[in-house]
Amino acid sequence: MKADVAIVGAGPAGLFAALELAEKSKLKVLVVEQGKLPQERVCPEQSYKGCVKCSPCNVLSGVGGAGTLSSGRLNLRPDIGGNLYPLVGEEEAWRLVKRVDDVFLRYGSPSFLYNPNGPEVEELERRAAAAGVKFIPISQREIGTDNAPKVIQNFMEDLERKGVRFLLQQRVARLEKGFLKLNGGGEVHAKYVLVAPGRSGQNWLAEEARRLGIPTRHEPIDLGVRVEVPAIIMEPVARISRDPKFHIYTKKYDDFVRTFCVNHRGFVCMEVYDEDGVVGVNGHSMQTVQSQNTNFAFLVRIALTEPLEDTSAYGRTIARQATLLGGGKPLIQRLGDLVRGRRSTWDRIEKGNVKPTLSTVTPGDIAMAYPHRVVTDVIEGLERLDTVIPGVASSSTLLYAPEVKFSANRIYTSKDLETPVENIFVAGDGAGLSRGIVTAAATGIIAARGIMKKEGLPAA
Ligand SMILES: Cc1cc2nc3c(=O)[nH]c(=O)nc-3n(C[C@H](O)[C@H](O)[C@H](O)COP(=O)(O)OP(=O)(O)OC[C@H]3O[C@@H](n4cnc5c(N)ncnc54)[C@H](O)[C@@H]3O)c2cc1C
Repeated sequence: MKADVAIVGAGPAGLFAALELAEKSKLKVLVVEQGKLPQERVCPEQSYKGCVKCSPCNVLSGVGGAGTLSSGRLNLRPDIGGNLYPLVGEEEAWRLVKRVDDVFLRYGSPSFLYNPNGPEVEELERRAAAAGVKFIPISQREIGTDNAPKVIQNFMEDLERKGVRFLLQQRVARLEKGFLKLNGGGEVHAKYVLVAPGRSGQNWLAEEARRLGIPTRHEPIDLGVRVEVPAIIMEPVARISRDPKFHIYTKKYDDFVRTFCVNHRGFVCMEVYDEDGVVGVNGHSMQTVQSQNTNFAFLVRIALTEPLEDTSAYGRTIARQATLLGGGKPLIQRLGDLVRGRRSTWDRIEKGNVKPTLSTVTPGDIAMAYPHRVVTDVIEGLERLDTVIPGVASSSTLLYAPEVKFSANRIYTSKDLETPVENIFVAGDGAGLSRGIVTAAATGIIAARGIMKKEGLPAA
């Protein structure tokens, strides 16, 4: 097959790159995607976070990319889920965020916007600042679990009307300058290749980069716990922000700790990190079924320097240790037990006022699996957060571990996202450029504009 631009991956980065090229150039675009159409993406585990039953995993792969089956929460800020400022500067970064939001609205994203402002927000910011905690106000739009497949379908159909072709359920095995080799033996020839394979393709992309001599660097990971508290405690904050983000630098180590992925009245779920059965936790919320609890990730940023720069290998070792201690299940512990230096038991958990929403867990001692520094950061961070959200650090607050947010290797590129191999561009999470839908989409647009620039076309 032939095209002017071959895009690998139909996640937000790939779809937005395709749209930019289709609307602003006459270049012929082909999107190669290993997964299926949005409506065909069904998870047999109903896990919302991926399991190991399908290959490729329907939660992570298919048109719409990772997260299409989940809530599709759009964080409308250039420095959340990545950072667009170093790539394009502040003004252009905000323009890109607006462009991404407008496109999702055009394809059916709800018009309702969570827009934190007013006296309640000011009061929260003041309380947080007094405790040395930074509250990050973010406008958010939620596409919604039920709505997301339809929005993505509309997006894809419009791209097809604009001349973009899709090659689905085809995995790209090898990247070359000017062509792609598919798993089944076929080839796609294109002057430009734009690789946007997301997290599910990050290891493959890192290997291809190594083979092609493209430098990469390890990015920091986030290691921490999933916190579960009674929903009523989070109610005042959840009213202000759908996914409230608090940033803290700990006093003891000056480490960066943050809240992430808040699921108000949601559920904690199990994730399988690899084929060896290493498990972790995550959280999700549903529109139709609600729990009595709110959960959120509480994460410590970890960067490493020589001799071990591979943060992912370090994170996997800790996750493996926690899995071992939990007998193949995630660990659960009351915060009070962690502080007292003793393991939790089901008896102790039942005495508390938080009923866990995940039962396939082992009561244990997170301090036996995690480095002392991370445990100290988690305890200090939660105690600081408690002064902003009273009750968060109560003795019966539940902590689940391991929770690790791995990062893709950052592929070396120019500001237009072209790699040192001429005409091979990258975008999105798989290239270590983003960690969220909006930023991934924006990097797709930046790479598409880089291609147009090379063709001598106006790129804005
Ligand atoms: C369950 C879940 C929920 C999430 N919820 C949110 C949220 O609410 N808000 C938010 O901002 N972010 C969320 N995220 C993160 C968000 O989904 C990602 O940041 C975003 O999708 C990244 O976009 P991308 O285009 O870079 O990659 P992806 O969306 O991962 O898309 C990459 C695509 O490339 C395909 N691919 C990979 N390798 C190959 C290959 N070799 N050949 C062909 N195709 C290939 C994959 O199948 C995939 O479809 C969530 C993630 C998950 C897993």
